[in-house]
This record gives sequence, C-alpha cells and structure tokens, in this order.
Amino acid sequence: MTHPDLAQLVAQPGQLRAALAAADAATLMLVLVQLTGDPSWLERAAPHIAGPMSYHETMPEALREEIRTALFDVLMDYARNPRPLPPVPNGQLLIDMLSTAAGEVVGEDYIAMMREDLEPAAIDPRGLVWRKRPDPAVLAAFHVVIIGAGMSGLCAAIRLQQAGIAFTIIEKNTTVSGTWFENSYPGCGVDTPNHFYSYSFEPNHDWSHFYAKRDELWQYFEGVADKHDLRRRTHFGAEVTTCTFDDASQLWTVTARRSDGSEYDLQANAIMSAVGILNRPKLPDFPGRDSFAGTALHTAQWDPGFDWRGKRIAMIGTGASGHQVGPTIAPDVASLTIFQRSPHWVVPNPNYFGAVADGKKWALANIPFYARWYRFQLFWGFADGLHSALKVDPEWENSARSINQKNDRHRIFMERHIRNELGADSPLLPKVIPDYPPYGKRILIDNDWYKMLKRPNVDLVTDRIAAITPEGIVTTDGTLTSVDAIIYATGFQASKMLWPMTIKGRRGVSLHDVWKPDDATAYLGTLVPEFPNFFILLGPNTGLAHGGNAIFMVECQVRYIMNCLREVIENGQHSIDVRAPVHDAFVQEVDRLHDGLVWTHKGLTNWYRNPAGRVFAVLPYRLVDYWRMTSAFDPSEYRFA
Ligand code: NAP
Repeated sequence: MTHPDLAQLVAQPGQLRAALAAADAATLMLVLVQLTGDPSWLERAAPHIAGPMSYHETMPEALREEIRTALFDVLMDYARNPRPLPPVPNGQLLIDMLSTAAGEVVGEDYIAMMREDLEPAAIDPRGLVWRKRPDPAVLAAFHVVIIGAGMSGLCAAIRLQQAGIAFTIIEKNTTVSGTWFENSYPGCGVDTPNHFYSYSFEPNHDWSHFYAKRDELWQYFEGVADKHDLRRRTHFGAEVTTCTFDDASQLWTVTARRSDGSEYDLQANAIMSAVGILNRPKLPDFPGRDSFAGTALHTAQWDPGFDWRGKRIAMIGTGASGHQVGPTIAPDVASLTIFQRSPHWVVPNPNYFGAVADGKKWALANIPFYARWYRFQLFWGFADGLHSALKVDPEWENSARSINQKNDRHRIFMERHIRNELGADSPLLPKVIPDYPPYGKRILIDNDWYKMLKRPNVDLVTDRIAAITPEGIVTTDGTLTSVDAIIYATGFQASKMLWPMTIKGRRGVSLHDVWKPDDATAYLGTLVPEFPNFFILLGPNTGLAHGGNAIFMVECQVRYIMNCLREVIENGQHSIDVRAPVHDAFVQEVDRLHDGLVWTHKGLTNWYRNPAGRVFAVLPYRLVDYWRMTSAFDPSEYRFA
C-alpha cells in the first residue's frame, strides 16, 4: 500500500520536523521499526520505556533525536520515491514491538487483533463483509430498527448502511449523541483518552485535549452522524415503549411514543437496542426528599439555566460525575458541602488537563501508523494492561487492602498521591482513603478533587443522610446543613436493563420476566434465547470498570451482530436465536470468572452487582478476549427459522 499523503511531505519538510519534535518518541520509534524492519531500535529504546504513556518514557534526548532524524530520512525517502509501505509486521517482531510499546511483556494472543488494526484493508473487516452479496431487493426488504442514536446506535447504523441493509433509528432526544448530549453538568467530560475513545473507523486527529469535555465529544458524534447522513433515517423525539415478536411472521412490531403522547408502530425484521445502561437517573429515596424548597437537580438532568455562583450547594455522591462537578463549581460557590457515602480510588494523570500540540495532531494525521500505535499504547495503558490488577490472588495476605501484588502497587501509588495532595497529617485522610482494594469501584482520574477538598468553602461530610427538609440535609447525628441547592450525583438505575421498555419475545414472554428484572444475562452480552433477531448493544456484562473503552466494546458487538445478520440474510432465513445451553454456559463462565475478580470482593459495594450480589454489568474478560470471541461466528450456536 502507498500512503496517500506521503508525497506531500516533499513540500513540507519543516512541518514534518516540527511534528516529529512534538510527537511521542516511543511511538515514533515503533513507526520507524515498522517502516525499516530494523529491530535494533527496540533494543535501544526498551530500557527507557516503563509503560505505554509518554510520562512512563525516559529516553535520553540523544536517542530521541536519533529516532527523529532516522524517521525523517525514511519518510522523506518515501515521499520522494513513492512505493508501497512494508507489510504489517508479524510473529516475533510484532510481539517485540507490542511489548516495547507497552513497557511489559505482551502475549501472542494480541497478534491477530493488532494486525487487523494496522492493516489498511480496503474493506473494513469490522463491518459486514458479504460472502455472496444478496440481491438489493432482498436487502431493501430486510428492515432493522435501532433504538437510540447515541454512540452505539450510530455505530450500528453506519455498519448497516455500509452493508446496504435498510434501517430506522428511533431516538427519544431531539438530536444524536445520547449520553454526551444528555449529560451537560459542569465539568462533564471523558476520562478515557480520546484517541482511544473514538470509533476506529472515524479517527479524529484534531481533539483539542487528550481528554475532551462534553461539548467537543457531542460535536464529534454530531459530525459522524452528518458525515454518514444518518439523520434522514432517524425519528427524533420518539421513545420506544414496546417491542413484540410475532412467531408466525417472524417479525417484530416496535411501538414508539412521540413527545405529544401519540403512538405509532413499525415492523422490523431485527432490532438493535442501543439505549446504554446509564440513562435512567437514580434519585435515592431520602425521607422528605421532595420537600426541599431550593433547587434540586440530578447530574444527568442538568438545568442549563441553573447558576451555582455564590450559592450554598450540597452535592450527594462522589462517583465519576461528582468528581467532575465538585472541582468545577467549587471556586464560584459560597459553600460546597459534599455528602460522601464511600470514597473512590483516584489515579493522577499528567495528561488529564493537557491540550494536544499542533505538531502532535499533524503526526497523528500524517505519519503512517503513528495513530494506530498510539492507540495501541492507550489500549494497553487504559484497558488490558490493567486487567491483571483485577485478579484475586488466593495466596495474597492482607486482602482487605489489595488483592494481588500489582493491585497493591497501584494502591501504594494512589495512596501516595492522596497524601501528597492533602498533606501527611491531613484530618481528611481517613475519610478519603478507601478501605477496599483498588478497582473495586470504578477507577477515577484526579480532576483536582483533593485540591478542591482543601478549599475553605468546601466541606466533606461522611455521616449518613437521615432526611431532607425544606432547608437542606439532615445527617444521622442531627446536623442540618442549610443549602440553596442540592446536586444529586447519585448515578443511574443500571440494574434494570432496557427498562422501562417492554420486550416480548417468542410466545409473548417478557424480557423483564426472564431477567426477574435485575438479573440481566445475554450471550456475549448481546443475545438472549427466545428473543430472535433482538440484539443488545452494551448489554449485560459488557461494561468496563477498570478503564477500557465502551466504543471498542460496541464495535466488537456490532461486528458480531452483522455476522448474525449475514447468516440470516445470505441463507434466506428469517431469524436467528441463540441456543439456551450456549447462553447458559457463557453466563456460567462469566460468573465463575467474576468469582475471582475484584468486584466480588467481600464487603464491597458497587453498581456492577445486582441486589443478589451477581455481577451483571461488567466484563470479566480482557478486551482482546472479547475481540476474539466476537470476531468469529459459529452458526451451530444458533437456531434459525
Ligand atoms: P456512580 O458512580 O454510581 O456514583 C454514585 C454516587 O452516589 C456514589 O458515590 C454513591 O455512593 C452515591 N450514592 C448513591 N446512592 C446514595 C445514597 N442513597 N446515599 C448516599 N450516597 C449515594 O454514578 P456516576 O458518578 O454518575 O457515574 C456512573 C457511571 O457513569 C460511572 O461509573 C461511569 O461508568 C460513567 N461516567 C463516566 C464519566 C467519565 O468521565 N467518562 C463521567 C461520569 C459518569 P456509594 O459509592 O457508596 O454507592
């Protein structure tokens, strides 16, 4: 393959030099190895790379300069003498590159996934690749309804459109983007780095920051929807209430309610539910909650007209949302009283507030393979590289504080950060250092949380809330905190998946009865027996709590679903239904794995478990495992009709 933009470098040597200076040396070195096939660069760089992030790399400046000079020469040579780029590395060379990129040993099981990522295939294998392309009339007659135009619904729509399959999106909001449209609380943003948290097929080399805030994320998804012209196939302002399968016709009837209350039906051969699990806010049932006389608002239902400046504010909840709201509003409020039920583990990240330099943006867009290697490094640092810290070591002593050696190292690192921020003698330390192992609740990035706690106008209350009165919040010790507004950063009703929709499969059986209703299970987090052609995006056990990237999960799921649809359509079938034993064996394995992971640790509470204690929300596997499971399709696991 020839890189389309390399020829332009002849006219832009200055820009290339500037980009090489701004880009990450370790990532550039990987590009250099790929272009030259010379592994000696790996040997020289490896001793200076302790992890995948720029701040884990301590290469001497002389070596960096050598890498930049060598890569400059190689790229200029390609620019002057256009020729195909070398094939994607394989075998030991690729393993060595991956291991050097990650700063630790990466196994052979990453080769296939990484080769797919590096291969600039003419047809993206992550979409539907027809074996024998069906007649256009057959495709046009097969109609899919996608519920939701958020991140996962858009991904599904793009893949269906590429495959030529007809679809309609039904979206309750007035525009696309789902969670990034709905959540507009102060400080709202992503805590997974953007160059990883974006579609693999729609990279954005222009992110202004490594961690974008809500508006920029929202605009990214708006832009993707426009680029693929998805709005014309979307019913906005309509909410799906019921989906009913008809055994005789093998069709679904989807009932949606418009904002004016009127209802309409659509027929569908298949349904892709893309509603996510974090969209129904949870408001704890405190006695007297509704008697409060001031403003009360949930982070996910923020009132853009609410002005917090100069007001006395109470905030309940210290999860991912609370950690973003608190430090953002604290400088401008009269007082901020934070009601914390349990503290979270928080990791510092030097890039969290950082802007992406222009040179780096240029490198991402123009230097071949740079963006892909950079993405792999983020994949490792924010997902699979952390997975071993989640596994309970049965021999590990002092299991109250950590669960294995790596987990303990992470604890020491985070505890040190808290002490550095607050001071070794701070009376806040016992309140903010968690008494459970790291990763037991969702790990957070420090958004200046501890700096905020040191402000004179901020108070951290750990006494339990007894009641809410017209004036404010009363804790169990009888103290009343009078406030002007209460912010509920109390999370979502995650365990009632797909609620409040009614989904009726074969013989009218309701999905919520099958799930009873908060024990959701699905094969690969996607398919439930007796619910033919009903596919759940971000379904049970596909969430990620240690890091990771929900977009990666969705792309894996959509690829798998497209293979299901291909099997149905190419073979002239009507529906596909996962066999119950296949589903049951998967769930058993998921439960068995969770028994050995941090989320089932004794005494821990988190939103990943249902009231019976079963982990229904998060994935026990590494992302590479989920990629492998969803990139192959075995028809013997299904019944076709
Ligand atoms: P959350 O993580 O569920 O946190 C809810 C908070 O409210 C917790 O501190 C919880 O305390 C507290 N709480 C709940 N019920 C309470 C009660 N009855 N009394 C006192 N405190 C109560 O919710 P979230 O912060 O909205 O985050 C939810 C998920 O959204 C995250 O896990 C993440 O997946 C996603 N998110 C991501 C980002 C991002 O940066 N990418 C930002 C926001 C949200 P306990 O811990 O004791 O239960």
